[in-house]
Amino acid sequence: MQNGIAASRGIGIGSICVITEHDLSFENKKIEDTEKEKARFDAAVESFKETTATMAEDIRKRIGPKEAEIMEGHLVMISDPTMAGEMKKMIDVGQCAEAAVTAVCDMFIGMFSTMDDDIMQQRASDVSDIKTSLLKILLGIEDIDISKVAPGTVLVAQDLTPSMTSQIVKENVVGIITEVGGKTSHSAILARALEIPAVLSVPGITEKVKNKDTAIVDGTDGVIFINPEGDVLSRYIIKREEFIKKQAELKSFLGKETKTADGELVELFCNIGTPKDAKKAVECDGEGIGLFRSEFLYMDNNHLPSEEEQFAAYKEAAEIMKGKDVIIRTLDIGGDKDIPYLNMKKEDNPFLGYRAVRYCLGNKDSYITQLRAMIRASAFGKIKIMVPLVTCVEELREVKNMVADIKKDLDSEGIDYDKDIAVGCMIETPAASLIADLLAKEADFFSIGTNDLTQYTMSVDRGNADVAYLYSTFQPSVLRSIKNIIQCGRAAGIPVGMCGEAAADPLMIPLLISFGLTEYSVNPVLVLTARSVIAKWTKAEADALAEKVLAMDTEAEIVAALKEASKE
Ligand code: PEP
Ligand code: MG
Repeated sequence: MQNGIAASRGIGIGSICVITEHDLSFENKKIEDTEKEKARFDAAVESFKETTATMAEDIRKRIGPKEAEIMEGHLVMISDPTMAGEMKKMIDVGQCAEAAVTAVCDMFIGMFSTMDDDIMQQRASDVSDIKTSLLKILLGIEDIDISKVAPGTVLVAQDLTPSMTSQIVKENVVGIITEVGGKTSHSAILARALEIPAVLSVPGITEKVKNKDTAIVDGTDGVIFINPEGDVLSRYIIKREEFIKKQAELKSFLGKETKTADGELVELFCNIGTPKDAKKAVECDGEGIGLFRSEFLYMDNNHLPSEEEQFAAYKEAAEIMKGKDVIIRTLDIGGDKDIPYLNMKKEDNPFLGYRAVRYCLGNKDSYITQLRAMIRASAFGKIKIMVPLVTCVEELREVKNMVADIKKDLDSEGIDYDKDIAVGCMIETPAASLIADLLAKEADFFSIGTNDLTQYTMSVDRGNADVAYLYSTFQPSVLRSIKNIIQCGRAAGIPVGMCGEAAADPLMIPLLISFGLTEYSVNPVLVLTARSVIAKWTKAEADALAEKVLAMDTEAEIVAALKEASKE
C-alpha cells in the first residue's frame, strides 16, 4: 500500500498503463555519410507528415475543422522548403539530423517570438511542437495515445497536464495515479469532473510499476495498491460496490431545493471550464454557475480567442443556464497555468508574479476583448463578471472603470447588454481577506477561492507534495479568514459564495452554514453530495460546532472534532 493525495473520490481497479516522460537529449555526433543522414531526415519528415495528417483528420471528425487547422498548419510549415532546406544544409556540413532540427527550429522560434504579432507568436509555438515531434521520430520515441487506452486502464504518470487529461476517454480510464500534483491542481480538478478516482503525489510511482500491473486506486482515502493480495482485492471490490450504491442513493436529492435541516435556503452552483460543462451542471442539478474558469478557452486554443469566439462561448453558457446565474471569471493565467502562445516571461515565483488580474490590467487590449464579450453575452442570460486574485481596491476599481467604458461604447454602437451586470471579486489572497470590508463596498458579490486562499495564507505551493501537510483549509488561520470574509460581505449586504474546492467538503459545510455562506459552488458531480450534507445540519448545530472548533489551536484537533461530529 502507498499513500498519496486523495484527489478524486471513488474506487478504481484496473490494469496499469504508464505514461513515460521522454528524454529528448541526443549525442551530437559528426556525420560522415551526409547523404544517408539526409535520407534518415527525409524519412522522419515523411513519417511526421503522415501522422500529422492522420491526427488532423481524426481531430476534424472528433472535434471540428477549426481545431484540425492547428495540425494542418504544422504540415504547411514542414512542407515549406525553407525550413527543411535549412536543416538539410546543416546535415550537408556534417551535423546529425537531431542537431539540424534543433538548431533550425530554435532559430525560427527565436525569430517568431521576438515579433510583436499574435500570429507570429503562435508560429513560434507551432515550430516548437514540430521540433518535439521530429526529435521523437528521429530518436525512435513513441507516444502513448491516451485517447486509445483499453477499457479498465489505470493511468500512471509523472504528472498529467490538462491537455493530456483532456484526451482521456472516461469509459476506458478507471483510475489515475501521479507522482506530483495536489488536491487543487488542475489535473485533479479535471479528474473530479470526469469522475475518475485519482490519487496524486505518490513518490516514485512511475519507477515502481510496469504496464499491465494491477492497481487499486482509492481516491476517497488517497491510497493505492499495486498487484494486491486476493483478500485486499476482494475488500476493495466490495468497497467499490458500496461507493456506487451510495452515489445511487444521492439521486433522491435530484430536483430538490438546497436547504439546511431547519429550512434555510442557500444556492448550490457549479464550477465549469467550458460552455459544454454548463450542460453537465444542468444534468447534475446545479442551480447556476458559480465559477466559469474562462482560461480553458485560452488554453485549448492556439491563438488569443477573439471577441466573437468568446462571445459565442459565454452566450452558449448563459443560454444553457436559462436565466440562472453564470459567474464568469476573467482570465486567470500564470501560476501553474501557462498559455504557450502568450509567451509569458519565466518567473522565479510564478504564483506571486504577473498573473490573473495583474496580467489583464497590463494587457488592456485583450482584457477589453474579454470584458466586451462577457458584457455582450449578458443580453442572453444572467452573466456576472468575477475578477480573480484581487489584492487591493484599485484593481477592482480599474476593472469597474473598464466595464463602465465598454458599456458606453456598446450604447453608442446600439448593442444590447444587461445594464445591471454585476462585477464581483474572488477573495483568494490574505490581502483581500484583510480588506474584505473595503472590497465589500465596491464589489457586487464575493466568491471565496479557498484553493488559493489556503495556498497564500499558509505560504504553501498548492502543488508541492513536500509541504502538502500544511495545505489545509482547516488550519485555524484559514478558517478565521473565511469567517471574516463572510462576515464582511454580509455586513455590506452582498452575497458571499465559495468556489474553492472546500465548498463541497462535508467536513467544511457545517462551518460554512454557521458563518452564513449564501452560495456554494462545486464540481457538478458533487452537487448532490453537497446538497445532502447541507440538508443534515441546522444552523444551531452548525453554530455550536463552529464555536467549538474555532476555539481550538491546531488543524489536527479541528479535523478530528469535525470528523467526530460528521453526519456522514
Ligand atoms: C480558488 O483559488 O479557490 C479557485 C477557485 O480558483 P483556481 O482553483 O482556478 O485557482
Ligand atoms: Mg484561484
